[in-house]
Amino acid sequence: MKLSVQQWIRPEIAALQAYHVADASGMVKLDAMENPFPLPPALQDELGARLGRVAINRYPDPAGAGLKPRLKAAFGIPDPSEVLLGNGSDELITLITQTLARPGAKLLALEPSFVMYRMNAILSGMDYVGVPLNADFSLNLDAMLAAIAEHQPAVVFISYPNNPTGNRYPRAAVEAIIAAAPGLVVVDEAYQAFADDSFMAQAGTVPNLLVLRTVSKVGLAGIRLGYAAGHPAWLAEIDKVRPPYNINVLTQEAAHFALDHLPLFDEQAHILRAERTRLAAALAALPQMTVFASEANFITCRLPGALAVFDALKANKILIKKLDGAHPLLQDCLRFTVGSPQENDALLAALYDILS
Ligand SMILES: *Cc1c(COP(=O)(O)O)cnc(C)c1O
Repeated sequence: MKLSVQQWIRPEIAALQAYHVADASGMVKLDAMENPFPLPPALQDELGARLGRVAINRYPDPAGAGLKPRLKAAFGIPDPSEVLLGNGSDELITLITQTLARPGAKLLALEPSFVMYRMNAILSGMDYVGVPLNADFSLNLDAMLAAIAEHQPAVVFISYPNNPTGNRYPRAAVEAIIAAAPGLVVVDEAYQAFADDSFMAQAGTVPNLLVLRTVSKVGLAGIRLGYAAGHPAWLAEIDKVRPPYNINVLTQEAAHFALDHLPLFDEQAHILRAERTRLAAALAALPQMTVFASEANFITCRLPGALAVFDALKANKILIKKLDGAHPLLQDCLRFTVGSPQENDALLAALYDILS
């Protein structure tokens, strides 16, 4: 029998590349914006005991109702705002696009930015419109406002600060985009713990604003939990698309555990911000290295021969992210996740060796 897969596959999916995750076994892992600090042993024991008591024979609390008030209190989600939980903020991006994918509906995003915006537009059947950043990764507000006027997007995604470039756009520019957009504007604050500004205080008050957050970048990437805050009218519709038990019992318990130990995670973010400053200065001192300003837990740089440097670091058992090739504006760019002080020292030592 002939295997005829392609004739049944949606052409836009056949044309996609699967999301590639590099093998990192045995490597210093500075590629994926994870928090480098493992849980202290005493907390590992406490988490283990708490997870052991969870009723895994029962379906989870369907909407994570017990978790929402605690998230609201801990992360300054204002009262007029409703909250929606996702299996990572990745799932929330999917739910948003599925909700808005009327025939001909458009998703507009800046480029380069988080690849999942375009991916989910395609998967959900929305038309994708990318508006390029300037060469220095700053926002071209005139181009953005013109694109909004022309395309009338159902949703605009803004990564604030931006992944993979690290910069945060001026607040006033994002406010102008929200004011001009006819539909929803999602301000994706995945890196909020490392940033100097947030739109959370406006969630629920500005009618077309949705603020997206995740616990992934602050030490809990493994539990897969994201949350969206915004006007109840939007969230009620998006909630209809959510699979009923999308946040499993172990994740919910682990999130309660993390909320009981918030100062630990705050302290780690504080250390990483200081390490970011130190790492950026040391990188800038390397020959031919252009370091872009970052309000995230990673630093994006440009240097001639970036691909060879990536390979040489890999040979030294250090895994970073190669951005060159992902977008024309990212030529010769590399992205370094800020690691522990020891990991950052190892990175810098290897770079001095490679570049001198
Ligand atoms: C990492 C990241 C996410 C996804 O986070 P998860 O909660 O782990 O799915 C969303 N948006 C941006 C901009 C990110 O960098």
